[in-house]
Amino acid sequence: MRELLRLFAYARRYGWALALSVVLMMIAGVCHAMLPILLGPVFDRVLKPSTPDAPIPLPIPKWAGFQLTLDQIVPFNIHNVWTLVAVSILLVFLTKGIADYLGNYLISFAGLSAVTDLRQKTFEKVIGEEHEFFQAHSTGRLMSSIMSDIEKIQLAVSQMLADWLRQSFAALGMLYVLFQNDWRLALVSITVLPFVLLPTARLGKRIRRTTRSAQDNAAEMSEILQESFSGHAVVKSFTGEALEAARFRAAAKKFKRSSLRYIAVQALPSPIIEFFGAVTIVGLLTYARSQIKAGAMTDGQFTSFVVALLLLYEPVKRLTGIANIFQQAMGASQRVFEYLDRPQRIRDLPGAPPLPPFRHSIVFDNISFTYPGHNNGFAITNLTLEVKRGEVVALVGPSGSGKTTLASLLPRFYDPTEGAVRIDGRDVREFGLGSLRRQIALVSQETFLFNDTVEANIRYARPDASDADVREAARNALAEEFILALPGGYKSRIGERGSKLSGGQRQRISIARALLKDAPILILDEATSQLDTESEVLVQKALANLMTNRTVIVIAHRLSTIRRADRIVVLDSGAISEIGTHEELVEQGGIYQRLHQLQSVDLEH
Ligand code: ADP
Ligand code: MG
Repeated sequence: MRELLRLFAYARRYGWALALSVVLMMIAGVCHAMLPILLGPVFDRVLKPSTPDAPIPLPIPKWAGFQLTLDQIVPFNIHNVWTLVAVSILLVFLTKGIADYLGNYLISFAGLSAVTDLRQKTFEKVIGEEHEFFQAHSTGRLMSSIMSDIEKIQLAVSQMLADWLRQSFAALGMLYVLFQNDWRLALVSITVLPFVLLPTARLGKRIRRTTRSAQDNAAEMSEILQESFSGHAVVKSFTGEALEAARFRAAAKKFKRSSLRYIAVQALPSPIIEFFGAVTIVGLLTYARSQIKAGAMTDGQFTSFVVALLLLYEPVKRLTGIANIFQQAMGASQRVFEYLDRPQRIRDLPGAPPLPPFRHSIVFDNISFTYPGHNNGFAITNLTLEVKRGEVVALVGPSGSGKTTLASLLPRFYDPTEGAVRIDGRDVREFGLGSLRRQIALVSQETFLFNDTVEANIRYARPDASDADVREAARNALAEEFILALPGGYKSRIGERGSKLSGGQRQRISIARALLKDAPILILDEATSQLDTESEVLVQKALANLMTNRTVIVIAHRLSTIRRADRIVVLDSGAISEIGTHEELVEQGGIYQRLHQLQSVDLEH
């Protein structure tokens, strides 16, 4: 119920459209109820032409204090009963059609708008999530939630609202006609309704559950799609096509099965209701025969009663169908609300001031860190390290020693489990996250470029940068030469993740991007490790340009990069084992000396 209210809260902004469509649906409902009212006279008068052209009264309750006849509400002066009834039927259907159409459009407008807002909000929440979130939720799953879960909700909200309103008003109209006609008979014939509605209501929970599992299976399919398409090169090189096809077939089969389960449940209420409708009508016919024989009821009265009853069952049937769609939306919205409600660990404290421009030092103050949700021990233990402004500090150490982890604490991709990262003496958690990240540029081994132009990719760092600034950054990153050689120059599109460029070119564009950002603090995480020697030389030069006048934490395994560092910090199992300059550490003869030796041997051969 709370979920329903939440969904409707998104529609509140479109209240005017909702209100207008309620009025229109009400008009359509009244028109619907007019049908049995108009059919009565057809049987009593039109089909028995001997009856006089007396006015046809409309079923206004006595307590209303006034009476209306049909000719009074038809805007033409007609005296012939048949013409009058015919014109009324046409007018009623015309009005109903227009009201239905407009009402339906407006309600869909409100529903779609509300759901678009919800989707936007979900996207904004998800894109603002921390690293931890993206490790726990795969891209395919997230895409499936934002696309297909929300589509389910969208269908439900717009369809449900439109149909629900229309059918409820129609049902009310029918009930009114039934009770005006013969309230005892009406009461008897609707007593079966609860017996119909109760069992169908109990199906609701099952529907919700089957929807949830169908949506989960859809997410699984989208996960496989996402993974196998983006990894298509690996799939091909290992001839894994058949394997992927089998994975997809299995997931699709699961999806089919859960969808069928859902269909089996949700199609159940309709035949149940129809059958009970038939039972009621047979009972009524038996009763009516005796009533008509005894002269207590005219043919027309009976016809309009039965038609009203039949027309009442239709909305009831539809309403239970809507209840199903509603259950479906609840099932689908669960995941979406889960995302929306997820508390963020890494966020701005209320009223956090922006971080003032970096001046003196970065201190990792007695830090211990364990990855959230992992109990494989600490990735970093009791580590203290100070980096002075303008200093270049190199982090070295065996793979898995915690270099990347330590560097990721500075831009707060994670917060330390114990201890604090301090900039100019203050804990970074005291300041706004955006202002902290704006002062840090990061270039890592895995470059990520967008499927856009070269220019747009560089400008991503500073959307308001001038063309001249973009060019200067590219030039300093030693990227201009190859950019100008591309068919469209700066306007060339570079493919998904920059797939139309070489590794070294991609890296230089990401360096240009970092240069344009012009942040005082720079983190380089194995920025050259994937490159061949030739492009490495270029990237090294570009990096040298990027490093000038900045405070740098550089993680590298090539001696050439490390040598230029003011200090070298050797990490081992998440703790500092040695600190010093290249010469000092070689002399000490520890881990660094061994690493150095290994590389020297490498270089000789
Ligand atoms: P390095 O960069 O020095 O090669 P990392 O900082 O990447 O090492 O990793 C340090 C340790 O933390 C490793 O034992 C690794 O398995 C673990 N680790 C790294 N990333 C995660 C993660 N996202 N979740 C859990 N453990 C991780
Ligand atoms: Mg690493």
